[in-house]
Amino acid sequence: MDKTKLETWGNVNVSESYLREPETIRDLRNTIESVGKRGCIPRGLGMSYGDQPMNSSGDVIRPSFSGKHIKYISTSGLVTVSSSATFAELLEQIVPLGWYMPVVPGTSSVTIGGAIAADIHGKNHYRQSSIADHIESMTLMLADGETIRCSKSEESSIFWATMGGLGLTGIIIEATIQLIPIRSSKVLVDRKSFSNFPDLFEAMKSHITSAEYSVAWLDLASKNNLGRGILETANHSDSEPDPLSSYETNPILSLPSFFPDLLLRKSTVSAYNSLRFLSAGRSENNEKIELSAFMHPLDKVRNWNRLYGKTGIIQWQMAVPETSEHTLLDVVDAINNANAPAFLVVLKKLGVSNQAPLSFPMLGWTLAVDFPAKHEGIYGFLDDLDQKLLEAGGRVYLAKDARLDPKLIPKMYPGVHEWRAIRRNIDPDRRWQSDFSRRLDL
Ligand SMILES: Cc1cc2nc3c(=O)[nH]c(=O)nc-3n(C[C@H](O)[C@H](O)[C@H](O)COP(=O)(O)OP(=O)(O)OC[C@H]3O[C@@H](n4cnc5c(N)ncnc54)[C@H](O)[C@@H]3O)c2cc1C
Repeated sequence: MDKTKLETWGNVNVSESYLREPETIRDLRNTIESVGKRGCIPRGLGMSYGDQPMNSSGDVIRPSFSGKHIKYISTSGLVTVSSSATFAELLEQIVPLGWYMPVVPGTSSVTIGGAIAADIHGKNHYRQSSIADHIESMTLMLADGETIRCSKSEESSIFWATMGGLGLTGIIIEATIQLIPIRSSKVLVDRKSFSNFPDLFEAMKSHITSAEYSVAWLDLASKNNLGRGILETANHSDSEPDPLSSYETNPILSLPSFFPDLLLRKSTVSAYNSLRFLSAGRSENNEKIELSAFMHPLDKVRNWNRLYGKTGIIQWQMAVPETSEHTLLDVVDAINNANAPAFLVVLKKLGVSNQAPLSFPMLGWTLAVDFPAKHEGIYGFLDDLDQKLLEAGGRVYLAKDARLDPKLIPKMYPGVHEWRAIRRNIDPDRRWQSDFSRRLDL
């Protein structure tokens, strides 16, 4: 079998692996049993920013089971879905039936397996927690080929180790998830612009708990408007008549592979942000828009990561405890004053953490910032930000990481010792491994 070159969304890590696409459970078991010393790792759509679904010179398993993605949906909104289904596929089917996923990521091009393996959070973590909270049960194939059912009450240590475990405990085959009911496929959105970050932050703190969703987009690239931002809050619409329509996830534009590296320049980023501010200023309050347009605005342009050019993006996403808000202000200042073009800076509120040892969210705030990987000095700059974060009791989101110092893992994720013990128990020969697990010594 020839090796396949695999990339991820960040486009920083590239590796050649043996890509296996088992079509049945039996194929999957045979594949796992036949892997060599470099082991294997599950792969979804490769929307990670780093090397999480990569296994250089080893096996990468992307299940391609035939049959329907949605196995079953009950009248109370319990859905059993294949791990290889994407959010787009699931939402297109459930929205017209009056259901929605309680937690959705910023793109609908993520698989259910990839989302659980990252324990994803959305724009509503302070209300709905992360995806783990809504998983009733799942089936998982372990390193020895055994298939188990796990949940918060059955094989619970394996269940929690898999939430945020980034494919290193086994391969999720399917999951049963509790959906939330909706009366409309639209949301009512309020947008407010702020000329500086402290004002935006104060407004965000006082407003968000009354909104189902909230997110702030910051401009940390404009010389004249340092730290300005747009705060968006939204609630599901339930006004009648407002029939449930279809859920549109198709992009309207696709960037070619030869697109110039526009976002490598601070001037382009700044011009883009100015346009965004102009359009936010024009939009009305309580605007009724499609859920998909609010949840996944970036999906309208396929491959928009190509704007960063061939050398890719590093996304630095951090969480900082509520008690260390000043660190968030420091970090925003540091990015503002740095020479690096910070494109797409997103701030969200986080609620309480769960018991998964590698889950990212903690009561506080999360800031995600995209930087071009090619920018000189970016690695040193991010190492300095990590130190600030550590002092504040914060952490970096492992699902987005491409460069963290492995020594910081036990400090940022004290539960990693417990997680390692569970992993040793269910995978003593380290059948599950990836470039990511070797890089971070997991
Ligand atoms: C534009 C964009 C916006 C995003 N927004 C958010 C957001 O709002 N919130 C958030 O939390 N994250 C967000 N993410 C991150 C994204 O949700 C995660 O990286 C997710 O894991 C990607 O899923 P994937 O299906 O592409 O999986 P991959 O990238 O292919 O794999 C990711 C990890 O999941 C594991 N995995 C995949 N399938 C399985 C399986 N069946 N069983 C076990 N393990 C598996 C892999 O081994 C790997 O470790 C965003 C990413 C992008 C690119």
